[in-house]
Amino acid sequence: MKRVYSFGNGVAEGAGLGKETLGGKGAGLAEMTALGIPVPPGFTIETSVCADVSRGASLDGIRPEVESALVKLEHDADKHFGDPENPLLVSVRSGARSSMPGMMDTILNLGLTSRTVKGLAARSGDRFAFDCRRRFLEMYGDVVLRVPRHEFEKAMKEVKKARGVSSDADLSAADLAEIVRRDEQIVRQRTGHDFPDDPREQLWGAIGAVFRSWENERAKTYRKLHHIPDDWGTAVSVQAMVFGNRGETSATGVAFTRDPASGERKFYGEFLPNAQGEDVVAGLRTPRPLNADGSGLSLEETMPRAYADLQLVRERLEKRFRDMQDLEFTIEEDKLYLLQTRNGKRTGFAAVRIATDMVDEGLIDAEEAVARVEPEQLVQLLAPIFDGKEKDAAVKQGRLLGKGLPAGPGAACGRIALTAERAVAMAGKGEPVVLVREETSPEDIAGMHAAAGILTTRGGATSHAAVVARGMGRTCIVGAGEITVDHAHKEIRSKSLKAAEGDWISIDGTTGEVLIGKLSTRPSEVLQVTIEGTIKPEDSAVHRAFTRILEWADARRRLGVRANADTPNDARIARLFGAEGIGLCRTEHMFFEARRIVAVREMILAETLAERRAALAKILPMQREDFLGIFREMGDRPVTIRLLDPPLHEFLPHDDDTMQKTATELGVSIEKIRERTHALKETNPMLGHRGCRLGITNPEIYEMQVRAIFEAAAAAMREGLHPNPEIMIPLVGARGEFERLRVLVEDSAKKVIAEAGLEIPYKVGTMIEVPRAALRANRIALNCDFFSFGTNDLTQMTYGYSRDDVGTFLPVYIAEGILPEDPFSSLDQYGVGELVAIGTRRGREVKPKLKVGICGEHGGDPRSIEFFNHVGLDYVSCSPFRVPVARLAAARASLAEKNVGTSSTA
Ligand code: PEP
Ligand code: MG
Repeated sequence: MKRVYSFGNGVAEGAGLGKETLGGKGAGLAEMTALGIPVPPGFTIETSVCADVSRGASLDGIRPEVESALVKLEHDADKHFGDPENPLLVSVRSGARSSMPGMMDTILNLGLTSRTVKGLAARSGDRFAFDCRRRFLEMYGDVVLRVPRHEFEKAMKEVKKARGVSSDADLSAADLAEIVRRDEQIVRQRTGHDFPDDPREQLWGAIGAVFRSWENERAKTYRKLHHIPDDWGTAVSVQAMVFGNRGETSATGVAFTRDPASGERKFYGEFLPNAQGEDVVAGLRTPRPLNADGSGLSLEETMPRAYADLQLVRERLEKRFRDMQDLEFTIEEDKLYLLQTRNGKRTGFAAVRIATDMVDEGLIDAEEAVARVEPEQLVQLLAPIFDGKEKDAAVKQGRLLGKGLPAGPGAACGRIALTAERAVAMAGKGEPVVLVREETSPEDIAGMHAAAGILTTRGGATSHAAVVARGMGRTCIVGAGEITVDHAHKEIRSKSLKAAEGDWISIDGTTGEVLIGKLSTRPSEVLQVTIEGTIKPEDSAVHRAFTRILEWADARRRLGVRANADTPNDARIARLFGAEGIGLCRTEHMFFEARRIVAVREMILAETLAERRAALAKILPMQREDFLGIFREMGDRPVTIRLLDPPLHEFLPHDDDTMQKTATELGVSIEKIRERTHALKETNPMLGHRGCRLGITNPEIYEMQVRAIFEAAAAAMREGLHPNPEIMIPLVGARGEFERLRVLVEDSAKKVIAEAGLEIPYKVGTMIEVPRAALRANRIALNCDFFSFGTNDLTQMTYGYSRDDVGTFLPVYIAEGILPEDPFSSLDQYGVGELVAIGTRRGREVKPKLKVGICGEHGGDPRSIEFFNHVGLDYVSCSPFRVPVARLAAARASLAEKNVGTSSTA
């Protein structure tokens, strides 16, 4: 069985085998070779060998194949391994199926021994040879022999100091020879052996180490974060070295075939003359541009021949791979070599632009364009932005307070508020606010909602703040550990900077930077076109690309996409983003507004039914207005309205001040409020007196809400609209609960319909959000028009803890392998997902046409959407800003089911 594939001189044994077998790098090298692009010869050991090595197998099984590939490589390179006259030097590199930048190990200049270094010196000069030997000793010493790298760095520093030079470039050949001597000494001391002086021993040491680097901690963490399976393994490519550090006609560089930030169709990249690849990455010298820019320093101007060759390569690669490529090249004495090509990483802007441009250029079709854009990338297109120049200037002025994890993309600036109450109060005065907390909890929701941005100093990407911010579409940074919140002094601090509550800060949720002061922001271009109407569609290339991708997506998806929206404004945004209806209108959110909350509290504190009805009568017209506004926005699209869900204590004040104020407003004693709040309080997970239970004990609340809905629907019909309300009962766990409330809804609806003298079509359904409901779905469905899975509560109850706990123990759980990943961040198939599948199947057993949707957070999560598509749901519902994400994800789910490849650029 063949496991080692040679490439060189225009012939590649592995051409067409692809990344699965050869890894990204190996596949790229094989394809480029087959295309006739200049690539130094070499061979690739396939990924399956890595899996064997991980299981403890020795490399003996591939020895004969590697030996014969080496003979071929010597022939193609016209150099010999270990030959003192004409030595072959190689690089040994990792390359997994999907790129894992910098996670695994690489060794360059392998083959340099005490003998061959002399041969290299005779051909290319002493300085060059000793510099290569030094680099090799350091890399090999670190990666294979596990000698701490800083020991080599120390030796180099000492020699530089003794010679009085500061730059590597100023070291003479003799200095470098001295460093080599010291490095060899370090290896001897550290390992008890001489540095291996046999090139074959070096080679096998390197191959083994690169395979083993698949299992290092960095690589494992990266795989976990990017959902790369552990058993994929890495390939290893061994390739003849070419040298970009052979004087001024040599160079090394990187290039993108299109601009990875904007997607513009222009060559983009940089290079360093007289340097090796690592020098570009190390950032010690400032790289120069590829394209002529009048500076006289560009590649185009300084090495026009190599530049022209590179342009040809660019065109051929794009034709072959039909995607934007990210290249590494080396120029050795004016001759161009390609060392790597892969699909380039890109911003969301570039992703949509490149995909649509490539359709126009005939390189790909619309279906492939849809598969090329990651749904999450669209979020970037909607986020507000800072002015780049202004931000750079602020950093230069030393206004960078710290950095955290970017958890909600976009730009936000506002005055610092250290508590949710302050945030609400300040926002109430029309001031933009950034809420800064150590971490957030559900009590902070109102403050988070009021804030333009959220910053926490603790917690990770799955913390409460991150999850909630994502749902709200808020700009958010979490875990900015250098910043401390000092509540006593009402300020935040980092090493040298501080800012007080009320001062301005600016946070960039795309990069994680926190800056002191006010930077100007503006809505994204797409938003300016779609929602604000301040830019005309024809004037925005980004918007055009965005809409085309979504139109292509819509034509290919089976799942419907609705939005969770509680206000007419949210409904409007949802509609403009293409929502086909509302999947969840949480009516309680309408209760919180300052004017209304008083009436709501009055209702809760009422002693008699008559008092309660009187309070409800005040709320009715307000809810009716909201519903009418939503119907006006949505026209004949379905609107699912959920009757009151949370326990009543959530509407009562929590702190003494508000309690006192409420007591005065309502003319009752503060003790009464305290006592009632306490009596009603539910703790997480909240299962008791709420949702349908509350509807059964206090039917007058639901009666009022149903009346408000149907009066609004009647009003909408009189305006010539065709509203399509769907009444949803929350938290049902037993058929009896649903049946009882269905009757209540129908009776209340009938009354209003009779009063109005109109035919108002409607549906009555339920949320499936407690595990029992999923299991009893075949009973609940009997008399039910639709199901909508509430995966928020379902997740909480399936796991037995709530999202509020996420910041505290979940990261530990995941790190220690108790859970494979955050159950709240994506729907796992063997827990909540299983309940969704069971609930859907059992419901449809008794009612084959039962309409089934999902309205929990997972409705906007691309990986969960793929699962919902698979189990046959009818639609997903997500927050308005995630509607485009869901439309695209739903299309990609359909395409994946048809087995069209999805993007490899993720
Ligand atoms: C749910 O539980 O998934 C849901 C949508 O309801 P809420 O988040 O309001 O509990
Ligand atoms: Mg719920």
